[in-house]
Amino acid sequence: MSTIDNLPPLREVIQKHDLRARKQLGQNFLLDLNLTSKIARQAGELSGHDVLEIGPGPGGLTRGLLAEGARHVLAIEKDARALPALAEIAAVYPGRLTVINGDALNIDPLAHLTPPIRIAANLPYNVGTELLVRWLTPPEWPPFWQSLTLMFQKEVAERIVATPGSKAYGRLALLAQWRADARIVMTLPPEAFVPPPKISSAVVHLTALPEPRYSADPAVLSQVTAAAFNQRRKMLRASLRGLHPDIEALLAQAGIAPTQRAEEVDLEHFCALARLLKAARSSA
Ligand code: SAM
Repeated sequence: MSTIDNLPPLREVIQKHDLRARKQLGQNFLLDLNLTSKIARQAGELSGHDVLEIGPGPGGLTRGLLAEGARHVLAIEKDARALPALAEIAAVYPGRLTVINGDALNIDPLAHLTPPIRIAANLPYNVGTELLVRWLTPPEWPPFWQSLTLMFQKEVAERIVATPGSKAYGRLALLAQWRADARIVMTLPPEAFVPPPKISSAVVHLTALPEPRYSADPAVLSQVTAAAFNQRRKMLRASLRGLHPDIEALLAQAGIAPTQRAEEVDLEHFCALARLLKAARSSA
């Protein structure tokens, strides 16, 4: 049977290289190449783009990204057992796949990538949120990436796209939506993975906006939202009390009732409060 790239089926690859999934590495593999191609297509136009993939494992998504036309894929994988399987893929796409064996949290990928750059990954759950937050909070905006197409536990995906008033709404939604468009583009049942995780997963596609939706100092916005959501059930006049002696007046100026709770306040109002707080501090 011919597959997307005429490499052997992933079940064979896993057996041949003895790639039994390890829980401590967050390994839940996607073996259906139709599905990995579909995820690759959610990343948008790939030709003329470099793609950073974290955690390629046996390479199902890697094969999808290359078959869908990625100019170059840089794949960072912690598990050295996956390297021979990835080398077989690299041999079929000469010069288009670079694999680095290491921990994505400690590797700066930029030296190996040429813009425009997209990021696509079926992330290890244990490092997924940390990587996302790093990609969303670079020192400069726009970031080095154009888009992120990432698999998360469904509950985390829902926190990324959440709107005010919902239980899932919090810092992750604000961080993601301040400077990016974020959408859930696919939902996958546990059986899509080997071994199946306990819960469903979802793919989120984020596109970097050229500029933030509303102006605000990133550090002040981060401080305000951290204080607000750390005590999300409290009224804002109480949870934000430590930020400024006259926080009630600043809240009112920002158009926020001091009795409101964090989860009722939208991004525009949080940004207004961050601007007022910064101005009040610099004139103090
Ligand atoms: N992309 C493959 C797929 O879709 O079948 C594997 C996905 S699996 C959920 C996560 C992968 O990330 C595993 O291959 C695991 O070894 C790798 N991984 C775990 N922690 C990592 C880290 N800190 N840096 C890089 N790779 C990591």
